[in-house]
Amino acid sequence: MTEADRELQARVRRFVDEQLIPHEVEAEMNDGHLADDVVDGHRKLARELGIGAITMPKVLGGDGLTMFQQTLVQEQIGRVTNGLGWVVHTPPAWLAGVATDHQLETWVKPSIRGERMECWAITEEGAGSDVGAITATVRRDGDGYVLDGEKWHVTSGNIADHVFFESVDAEGDELAARIRQGTLEMADPEPTSMFDHVYAEQTPPLAAQRAEFVEYHASFEGEK
Ligand SMILES: Cc1cc2nc3c(=O)[nH]c(=O)nc-3n(C[C@H](O)[C@H](O)[C@H](O)COP(=O)(O)OP(=O)(O)OC[C@H]3O[C@@H](n4cnc5c(N)ncnc54)[C@H](O)[C@@H]3O)c2cc1C
Repeated sequence: MTEADRELQARVRRFVDEQLIPHEVEAEMNDGHLADDVVDGHRKLARELGIGAITMPKVLGGDGLTMFQQTLVQEQIGRVTNGLGWVVHTPPAWLAGVATDHQLETWVKPSIRGERMECWAITEEGAGSDVGAITATVRRDGDGYVLDGEKWHVTSGNIADHVFFESVDAEGDELAARIRQGTLEMADPEPTSMFDHVYAEQTPPLAAQRAEFVEYHASFEGEK
């Protein structure tokens, strides 16, 4: 470990010990909810400490940490009950390479700045570890897209303002096996049924039927 690595580790350990862990019991007693100013304060502090968006490159406003440094951060964050640790934002690093300028400006950079929040709708009743079993579909409809499928366990689905929805192409051509991702404005940020895992960032099922698909994000040919 370099000096910088050790310093980062110590910085995050202090943050966890002094700022997050003291709120664990309060969160536990209140279904994960803490006062807004507490949560906002944690998010702000995380950004100031250089761990606000650990997976993202500096050029986009992220922290530009190496994979090893990200592991050091996660190791410390993992010591605190997970809902509290999620003030450390971890959008997938590959977004930086595949998102268009419009997508970067609309979703990615605001999320890095803490102004927006995404969630990920991947898992289905019959598709958990094996994303190749995903049955949700997407098809073109005029200028937009229609999504059809039901997703389970969409963490932060109750508070996110947009969702990445994984689906297969429904146009019946050779693209049918592709898994695509896109971003979708959530019509209803508070779904009626919840699979609650105790903390405020719940994991609700999400039905996205005839939702407007804003645009494709990327395709992963042949990827499972
Ligand atoms: C708290 C929580 C939050 C979640 N958040 C999200 C989210 O934000 N978005 C989302 O889309 N999903 C989310 N999920 C769902 C999660 O991604 C799935 O639970 C996970 O992918 C496993 O799928 P599964 O539960 O269907 O189990 P399965 O895939 O059916 O696996 C069952 C068991 O078989 C094992 N197994 C599976 N495949 C293999 C293999 N090839 N070889 C050996 N063993 C294997 C697994 O390890 C497991 O023990 C969340 C789940 C939880 C519990």
